[in-house]
Amino acid sequence: MKSIDLRSDTVTLPTPEMRRAMYEAEVGDDVYREDPTVNRLEERAAELLGKEAALFVPTGTMGNQVAVLTHSRRGEEVIVEAESHVYLYEVGGIAALSGCQVKTLPGVRGAMDPAAVEAAIRPVNVHFPRSGLVCIENTHNRSGGCVLPQENVAAVAEVAHRHGIPVHMDGARIFNAAVALGRPVAELVAPVDSVMFCLSKGLAAPVGSLLVGSREFIDEARRYRKLLGGGMRQAGVLAAAGLVALELMVDRLADDHANARRLAEGIAEIPGLAVDMATVQTNMVMVDIVDPRFTGRTLVQAFERWGVRCNDVGPRRIRLVTHKDVTAADVELALDAMARAVKAGP
Ligand SMILES: *Cc1c(COP(=O)(O)O)cnc(C)c1O
Repeated sequence: MKSIDLRSDTVTLPTPEMRRAMYEAEVGDDVYREDPTVNRLEERAAELLGKEAALFVPTGTMGNQVAVLTHSRRGEEVIVEAESHVYLYEVGGIAALSGCQVKTLPGVRGAMDPAAVEAAIRPVNVHFPRSGLVCIENTHNRSGGCVLPQENVAAVAEVAHRHGIPVHMDGARIFNAAVALGRPVAELVAPVDSVMFCLSKGLAAPVGSLLVGSREFIDEARRYRKLLGGGMRQAGVLAAAGLVALELMVDRLADDHANARRLAEGIAEIPGLAVDMATVQTNMVMVDIVDPRFTGRTLVQAFERWGVRCNDVGPRRIRLVTHKDVTAADVELALDAMARAVKAGP
């Protein structure tokens, strides 16, 4: 039986076009800035996001951590949403690498209240850390891929900038947000100073993320990338796949979003499972377990036996993610298998 992998959009395999582009990529030593394919990818990313410059990094985590290192100083405080990736899933990097402490604020589907951000900014006082950076996340992973309301992005950035504090966006899936809103990605990121986005998720490239911002910011970020061991050599082999991702894989994210919606509607009809449809905005579905026989862990195991793979993200919650290697027909097969699995019990 074929298994349908809905654990994450990171499981996507490179397309034939990507493999061809990688094979044929013109390369050089990127630490000397001599890899023409990396240079092209960085220029293209900056252009698409409406910023001056970009930096190719191996992972989204490195992109976010390089951004924090570049924006902040040791002993400062970084304001983050309490369920954000940069805080929860990056191995304590803000503390370990930048020597900063975090101030977490609650979010509504990832969106922090601009007034709460303003209240969290430290006044000038010899006892206090300085507030060095505000981080936001779009789309917001832990809330199920919700898109930040654009007026919230603008309001949070306005507050931070009024206090002289830069704003970094973890835009791992910013292209999902742009496709969901039907707006150019440059418009979504216009209020913020820097953005990280991933090529390796829904865009299906094998490896890579970009950090984007002003030329001055990226010049400094390049030094921190080197510090973290991210100065790669003939990285054009990887960048070539990224260029294909940006050219061919953005518009089709709409298919993933349609599949996620269908998946969510079908799951909501399975007795004992619940989905808040208002949160199904892009390519993720968060499922709450009402059936007392299951926990997140045992439901994942039961689905696995029926050929559907997903992740538990809480004691009574699982997450399913659609992507280009899951077709509309796969979604129907998965729904059928999940209904049978729930009926059969743990
Ligand atoms: C995946 C992800 C990252 C990190 O990307 P990696 O390439 O896995 O290091 C950062 N932020 C969010 C919201 C993500 O989903």
